[in-house]
Amino acid sequence: MNWPKSLINKIKTKVNLAAYTSFKIGGAAEFFFEPKNIQELKKILVLAKKKKLPVFILGSGSNILVSDSGVKGLVVKINEECFKSVYSKGVFLTAPSGLKLSKLILFAKKKGLSGLEFLAGIPGTVGGSLVGNAGAWGSSIGDLVEDICVLDYNGKKKLFCGNQLKFSYRKSNLNKYIILWVKLRLKSKSRDSIASKINNYLLLRRASQSNIFPNAGCIFKNPAGKIPAGELIDLCQLKGRRKAKAMISKAHANFILNLGNAKSSDVIFLMNLIRKKVKAKFKVNLEPEIKLWR
Ligand SMILES: Cc1cc2nc3c(=O)[nH]c(=O)nc-3n(C[C@H](O)[C@H](O)[C@H](O)COP(=O)(O)OP(=O)(O)OC[C@H]3O[C@@H](n4cnc5c(N)ncnc54)[C@H](O)[C@@H]3O)c2cc1C
Repeated sequence: MNWPKSLINKIKTKVNLAAYTSFKIGGAAEFFFEPKNIQELKKILVLAKKKKLPVFILGSGSNILVSDSGVKGLVVKINEECFKSVYSKGVFLTAPSGLKLSKLILFAKKKGLSGLEFLAGIPGTVGGSLVGNAGAWGSSIGDLVEDICVLDYNGKKKLFCGNQLKFSYRKSNLNKYIILWVKLRLKSKSRDSIASKINNYLLLRRASQSNIFPNAGCIFKNPAGKIPAGELIDLCQLKGRRKAKAMISKAHANFILNLGNAKSSDVIFLMNLIRKKVKAKFKVNLEPEIKLWR
């Protein structure tokens, strides 16, 4: 493929994506690019469009399962502080999409800004969390959003605010855009009370999840108004079920663990088994929370 001189040394080929995901599973990206700024991102999007290359946006890879044969197209990795530095003004905090949630939470704590503590322990970036409206313990990041700056796939910038933004359970109306940065509305609180909330959430998480093996968090969304997905899977006696090196976690049935060199096809086998058993026993169709890249 012919790339312009200004980008040719920056576009990598056949990059192993397993290394970029928390699952540590999957094949290579045909093309891989890490933009340094908005200009580079715009340029690559316009080129990809011209060359009819599918584009995959990668945050910290903690909510995706990459196919064993990898992805045909261009993976764009959004790095920390690619588009803006994190800063606060009053109760508003503005953060770039590539910032890790752990760093976002620490920054907010330092500034005495409360509201993000429930996200403690979620290993994603700001961008990935907004697209999937990440949440825990009854709260979601979408509840805190004031406005969001995005690029569309033609490289055009847009600002979304108020009722232009739609968030629901693990869902947003942002999946046709690339998130650049977000402005969040938080509350002033003492650093001590923020720190203690963070610690409590981390303890709760440790008690319910055992993450000694690579995984991608919850595989399925919780069905609306019904028993949580993990409980349904547990009631089908599927905890500990294995396919080669992939295993349904014994600690949290909605997690699938990579015990070492698991294949994407092994995980998909277990996902299909779970869906079949849960459907047969409870007449519930489980919907994947993780995104499948192929
Ligand atoms: C141990 C563990 C625990 C977890 N616990 C939780 C939890 O409690 N609650 C929860 O909600 N999730 C949880 N997750 C899942 C995951 O961490 C979150 O969904 C996280 O927000 C994903 O962010 P990411 O940067 O890793 O996204 P990625 O996995 O890189 O990408 C996920 C999706 O977002 C898109 N995306 C990423 N960045 C951008 C961007 N800048 N612009 C546009 N699209 C983008 C990608 O294209 C992809 O479709 C957990 C995962 C693990 C491994």
